[in-house]
Amino acid sequence: MASDTIFGRMLRGEIPCDEVYSDEKCLAFRDIQPQAPVHVLVIPRKALESLDAAVAEDAELLGHLLLVAAKVARQQGLTDFRTVINSGAKAGQTVFHLHVHVIGGRLLTWPPG
Ligand code: AMP
Repeated sequence: MASDTIFGRMLRGEIPCDEVYSDEKCLAFRDIQPQAPVHVLVIPRKALESLDAAVAEDAELLGHLLLVAAKVARQQGLTDFRTVINSGAKAGQTVFHLHVHVIGGRLLTWPPG
């Protein structure tokens, strides 16, 4: 069952999203406030609050999300890109449904803020 968050509502089709990829395990869509020319979020269909809430049985799903992140990056024409998973409010997580940010299309500096 999808989570009771804005992403859960997208998974249930209650609110629209700008979809770029979908399969039986996950959905990818454009971030509404892009931080770069390409900014896509990859989310599991399973209701997982954060990376910290993941357990051993989620290992395959987590691997799948990363493979989809790379596939989406290629699909969007990126060769260089960054993946980010914010876990917890102090790390910048604002939506408590696990999501992988895929960011690219400009020079990305390090360290992040
Ligand atoms: P985080 O801060 O890591 O939890 O990332 C949440 C992301 O979700 C932010 O980059 C937001 O811009 C994005 N976001 C929030 N609401 C929506 C929405 N309705 N459609 C697409 N992206 C969203």
